[in-house]
Amino acid sequence: MRDVMAPESGRWRRFVQVFAETVEAAGYQQIIPPLLEDIGVFTRVGEATDVVSKEMYDFVDKGDRHVALRPEQTASVCRAFVQHRPTLPWKTWYTGPNFRYEKPQRGRFRQFDQVGIEVLGVTDPDLDVEVIALGWNFFAALGLRRVELKINSLGEPSDRLRYTEALARHFDRHRSELSEDAQTTLTRNPLRVLDSKRVEDGPIIAAAPRIDDFYSDEAATHFRRVCDGLDDLGIPYIRDERLVRGLDYYRFTTFEYAGGTLDSAQNALGGGGRYDGLVEELGGPPTAGIGFALGLDRTLIACDDEAVFPTLDSVLDVFVVDTTGGREALLLTDEIRRAGLTADRAFDGRSMKSQMKAADRSGARVALIVGSDELATGMVVIRDLRHGAEQMVVPRSDLEVRLRQQLSSPSTKDQS
Ligand code: AMP
Repeated sequence: MRDVMAPESGRWRRFVQVFAETVEAAGYQQIIPPLLEDIGVFTRVGEATDVVSKEMYDFVDKGDRHVALRPEQTASVCRAFVQHRPTLPWKTWYTGPNFRYEKPQRGRFRQFDQVGIEVLGVTDPDLDVEVIALGWNFFAALGLRRVELKINSLGEPSDRLRYTEALARHFDRHRSELSEDAQTTLTRNPLRVLDSKRVEDGPIIAAAPRIDDFYSDEAATHFRRVCDGLDDLGIPYIRDERLVRGLDYYRFTTFEYAGGTLDSAQNALGGGGRYDGLVEELGGPPTAGIGFALGLDRTLIACDDEAVFPTLDSVLDVFVVDTTGGREALLLTDEIRRAGLTADRAFDGRSMKSQMKAADRSGARVALIVGSDELATGMVVIRDLRHGAEQMVVPRSDLEVRLRQQLSSPSTKDQS
């Protein structure tokens, strides 16, 4: 776990802002679920996954409740739906930290932030297209150009079951040739063996049965309509039959966005899919669902690689230098901030020289200087810090107008 410091923290905030603008423009509203849930919320939906079985931060609280820090937010959104029953269709978005006890490495942390959307109550494949397109458009809004969209369908639950059984038989025949990890996965969830990135598992996975041969008519039609919709919107995609996704509850459409610049083992920026059945699992009525979650960390690494969505230094308009004791600095910074400009100051009655140094270090565009002469005559000095020589003395009553003139003059603006 780590601290996110400025200026990176400001970039995180803008990231969430761009996401909010993208999805709110499509009718999604924010939910802020708690960080902590009854452990059942997660175990009921992801028993056979590493995320739930091995990586959860769970503990018994002072009231003897077995709780867990959320490893993801889809289950929380569904739990919230069952509890509050908002009208359908329910389109919602979220952001915030999740917790997984994983081996930390580049782009993988034990506390990590995601943004995501979920829609409950719609089975129309056009919605799958909308959801996938929103993620795609968000990456474009960040400026990313090398994102790859991969899609797949897991079919209906019964298709998936028959497919899983066929896979289990296939992998079982080759058990001894599989990596030790894949053998363990096979016992828990044969579908997840397809996820293995181990070289020794490659040929056995390549020879495995194909999901296409197991689709019902409905599943095949749904998938075709999703593909057609993406074609209509001009969104390029790659069919990836091995895309089964980490969590257990996916049905029909699954998809993933991969960063074109990232290492292949760690290149998923985010992904999602349909999870018709999850709400029921949590005690609600049968309700269709679909959504995605995108990781901040890896997406920002991709942004760095493509030199887009840079961190911005926050630019301070004014630094107030007061050599008359500090009361003028108190009044002036307050006045300037109320006027909608940004201002900072020094404290502790430091010398003129030391305050000017602080003003330079602050990156402010102009210094506002008050000495005893200015105080006596009701004036202030405006000094352009980017062009040290320029300064003017203005009456206090004109301050805001003159400050704005100075800040919008090319000499200061060009440098910002
Ligand atoms: P998932 O919820 O497992 O489908 O993950 C969705 C996205 O969240 C991934 O593609 C990553 O970008 C991000 N993510 C998942 N786990 C981590 C982690 N431990 N650290 C950082 N990002 C993560």
